[in-house]
Amino acid sequence: MEHSEILVVGGGNAGISLAARLLRDGAGDVTLVAPQPVHRYKPLLNYVAGGQATMAELERPMADLVPDGCRWVRDAVESVDPAAMTVRTRGGRVLHCSTMVLCPGLVEDWDATPGLHSAYAEGWAASSYVPGSTPTVWPRLTSLRGGSVLFTVPPEPASCGPTALKPLFLACDHWRRTGVLADLQVRLVLPAATATGLTEADRFLEDAFAGLGVEVLRESVVERVDGDLHSVTLSTPTGSRVLGDLDFAHAVPHYRAPRFVADAGLSADRSPGLVDVDPETLRHREHGGVWAIGDAADLATRPSGGALRKQVDVLARNLTAARTGRALKRYDGYTVMPITVSRRTLMLNEVERDGRPSPSVPLIDPFVPRRWQWAFDRYGLPQVYWRRILRGKV
Ligand SMILES: Cc1cc2nc3c(=O)[nH]c(=O)nc-3n(C[C@H](O)[C@H](O)[C@H](O)COP(=O)(O)OP(=O)(O)OC[C@H]3O[C@@H](n4cnc5c(N)ncnc54)[C@H](O)[C@@H]3O)c2cc1C
Repeated sequence: MEHSEILVVGGGNAGISLAARLLRDGAGDVTLVAPQPVHRYKPLLNYVAGGQATMAELERPMADLVPDGCRWVRDAVESVDPAAMTVRTRGGRVLHCSTMVLCPGLVEDWDATPGLHSAYAEGWAASSYVPGSTPTVWPRLTSLRGGSVLFTVPPEPASCGPTALKPLFLACDHWRRTGVLADLQVRLVLPAATATGLTEADRFLEDAFAGLGVEVLRESVVERVDGDLHSVTLSTPTGSRVLGDLDFAHAVPHYRAPRFVADAGLSADRSPGLVDVDPETLRHREHGGVWAIGDAADLATRPSGGALRKQVDVLARNLTAARTGRALKRYDGYTVMPITVSRRTLMLNEVERDGRPSPSVPLIDPFVPRRWQWAFDRYGLPQVYWRRILRGKV
């Protein structure tokens, strides 16, 4: 059996930046279990779907990103035994560790929406969230001159769900400038009553939806898709509702944590599938050697890459504190939901767990859309991501 001091599961934003940070802090024995050959900077997917970026800009080979000094097991975790502190990989390896950090993100739950997967295969549905389909979104949206189009925000758990509004606003801006917006019926399905649950952000967004003529269907999710009829069935507070004759659906799938988390008894009843950690210390409530951050962790806040900047810092400090018997640091639930509201403006929506504003730039109102924020999100942040965040320097 192979042993490591620290075993990190998942080579996404969380896993790579944490491994890099731990090695920078002097950890000597870090193993990363990550199967995928390519890493994606996911926030740019919305810009691909909105015609402002290409896939080549957001993809890098994993081999270029695994930090120096980190052991990379290029395999997927199949099961975890938290009592024995081991993981078994799909390739049959058993890896033992003293500390385990789970960050496998979320996976698409296609079964939750019958018909959606085949609608993607037929090209009638696509979204920024499913990378294989993302490059098809903007050509489809901009080919529309009239008819009916649907956008959805995915229900929780989802990876920074409100950012699924970016393609909607970028498309509406395009349709308005090209004079076809009035000929299109644009509908938006929201899982909650409002888009973000943040009063000030929602006030602005509601005005923007009204100004663009977007019909908002609230507290609803897509429960079924019929590709032949180009229709979706929504589950709404008043029952099922069918929307037919859609020309295109930017329908984001529902998500869940990988099953090995629940199979190992590491998830809580109240949030099926996510790793049941203390949302402040990031330590598993039952198994003290197990920790989790990122989209797969039950942190009582909206998951986002921005949130990970703080989570990685708190977790890195807490692993040392736990080893030396010092008090653990606390994560305040900071998160961010950047939304482009036109092709050149973006609102950041940076908040703490309770929804209080938490701007990274002091004294800036995080709910006001600004041009420099769009430029930073689109062009600046990807550079910070590749050069600093994934290298454990933030
Ligand atoms: C379309 C989109 C737009 C977004 N926009 C923004 C934004 O504008 N701003 C922002 O802050 N955040 C944004 N996010 C959210 C952000 O990208 C995520 O919060 C972040 O990537 C989460 O990191 P993670 O490491 O937890 O999960 P991921 O980045 O998903 O990484 C998880 C990794 O674990 C791997 N894995 C899965 N199962 C296993 C297994 N069994 N064994 C080993 N490895 C496994 C996966 O292959 C994956 O590489 C967006 C997300 C999406 C999808």
